[in-house]
Amino acid sequence: MKQKIAALFNQVHGRAPAVITRAPGRIEFIGNHTDYNGGTVLGAAIDRGVWVAVAPRTDGLRVFYSDMMGEKVTLAASVTAKQTGETSWINYPLGVLAALPAFQLKAPEGFDYVAISDLPTGAGLSSSAAIELASGLAFLALTGQQPDRETLVKIGKHAENNFVGVPCGILDQGVSGFGQKAHLVFIDCRGPRFDTVPLPESASFWIFNTHTKHALVDGLYAARHRECMEAAKALGVSLLVEATPEQVEAAKSRLSPDAFKRAKHVVDEIARVAQAVAALEKGDLDAVGHLLTASHRSSQHLFENSTPELDFLVDQLSATLNVHGARLTGGGFGGAVMALTSPAFGDAQAQAVADAYAKKFGARPDILHMRTGDGAEQL
Ligand code: ADP
Ligand code: MG
Repeated sequence: MKQKIAALFNQVHGRAPAVITRAPGRIEFIGNHTDYNGGTVLGAAIDRGVWVAVAPRTDGLRVFYSDMMGEKVTLAASVTAKQTGETSWINYPLGVLAALPAFQLKAPEGFDYVAISDLPTGAGLSSSAAIELASGLAFLALTGQQPDRETLVKIGKHAENNFVGVPCGILDQGVSGFGQKAHLVFIDCRGPRFDTVPLPESASFWIFNTHTKHALVDGLYAARHRECMEAAKALGVSLLVEATPEQVEAAKSRLSPDAFKRAKHVVDEIARVAQAVAALEKGDLDAVGHLLTASHRSSQHLFENSTPELDFLVDQLSATLNVHGARLTGGGFGGAVMALTSPAFGDAQAQAVADAYAKKFGARPDILHMRTGDGAEQL
């Protein structure tokens, strides 16, 4: 991909790039809806991502090009307005440029820019965080600035929250920034504090993207957020992370049935993240797999953010040889299921799951196979 983006840059801008960077997409491994409850989460940086190439210009113009659009867009460095329509992808690099001063960093004036990707967009793999971090690193290298990883992560999140306008948590950028091959990224969302946990390099991820999306997904997400905050209040804590599973059980009669289920999911899920870290440290992928599937069952029955499509995939995968575990990944209410497998799980088995799914639901899920990969870097 490095040669590919250098060649494309030459074709588009008629010269060589000065800086090439790459940042990976990510998978939410375990820790479902724990972030805004102050909890913990494990994510995997994957071996797919976004590459960005830049070179400085002296005329104050910023010339953007992406393999997604196939057309150059030229903006004066003074243009800081949010883009709409076809060019709205530029809001990701523009958002990063707009974020830099908030971190006492300087944005480059004029430059030529190219982004390419081998990450499907909108598949729950966070291509948005990947383009933010790759762009951030590129702009900073262009101006000779070297921030630490945590600052880079925060710049990406700032861009997505404040400029693009998506209220995502720290998972996407945190994993893209702190990812490491043959590791998972552990995030304590309260710091935030970042760490890595070894994962055998042989571990494989399979994503089954259903392309289904609940019509009311935004409203449902907001409802879950509200229910969690109400449950915390009823438990006398500011965030659910401060309550233990025992405290939630003891409060069952005081909580509404829904508040109890949401709270139980969150505190159990936070406990599962810790159990997963412990199992990973022992290299016990079967134990990790059981935790993944338990996480899904909790989403299905307690948090109620699963769907019949996702449940079906988890049922099929759980019954398939060489699958350690499977769960919905991301916000839920549609989207994708992730399976953690041994290398012996292959395309034939994945296609058999897709066949069964197609027979029941009349459409095939997209299948993506990936491994862990390294975090954002300059190449
Ligand atoms: P996800 O992060 O799950 O992939 P989002 O909707 O958050 O989905 O982000 C996808 C958006 O990120 C795309 O619509 C596009 O604007 C931007 N993006 C991602 N990859 C690229 C790319 N290679 N070139 C230009 N824009 C990209
Ligand atoms: Mg995104």
